[in-house]
Amino acid sequence: MNIEQEYLDAQALLEGHFLLASGNHSRRYLQSAKVLEDPKRAELICNALAEMIQKSGIKVDTVCAPALGGVLAGYELARSLGVRSIFVEKKEGGMELRRGFQVNKGENILICEDIITTGGSAMKAARAIEELGANVVAFASLANRGFCKREGSTIEAKEECQLSSNVPFFALDDFTFEMYSPEECPMCKEGSVAIKPGSKS
Ligand code: ZN
Repeated sequence: MNIEQEYLDAQALLEGHFLLASGNHSRRYLQSAKVLEDPKRAELICNALAEMIQKSGIKVDTVCAPALGGVLAGYELARSLGVRSIFVEKKEGGMELRRGFQVNKGENILICEDIITTGGSAMKAARAIEELGANVVAFASLANRGFCKREGSTIEAKEECQLSSNVPFFALDDFTFEMYSPEECPMCKEGSVAIKPGSKS
């Protein structure tokens, strides 16, 4: 599985001048909703991710995604793993299960995102699950932005990474784009204005 090629084929790897959720600017942006819009491609990608997780021997009962970004990837990964799929939603200061979703004490939960940058949303989801007495046994995302250490990669975690270092993190590849603070952004210096392509506010 060449995940970068899948993003390119789906026109989901955008080139331009982007404002990221972190407040930094970048020339490239991963529009993950777009790589998952074709269910056949979503299935292939998530099958590859599921295979990595199964090979590790980690037992997963349920996949939980932070809404909205992780929901499609989480659902498709759950299908590949043959397990239940749930999601948590934002509340003041964190995330919570709604819509009648429940977890059991001791249940093994994998937290799935579309992309892990620093892992902030994934950790909010993990805390919501752990407060209910379930275990967070792994993190997974389609791609890793290079701040956190994924299984099988030589890229070490940066200090910005928020994921628990004792929980394994699975992703299909590292995408390490250069990012700039607004003050140092070369595109801003050329007079262009960064656009915000995602849904995060
Ligand atoms: Zn800029």
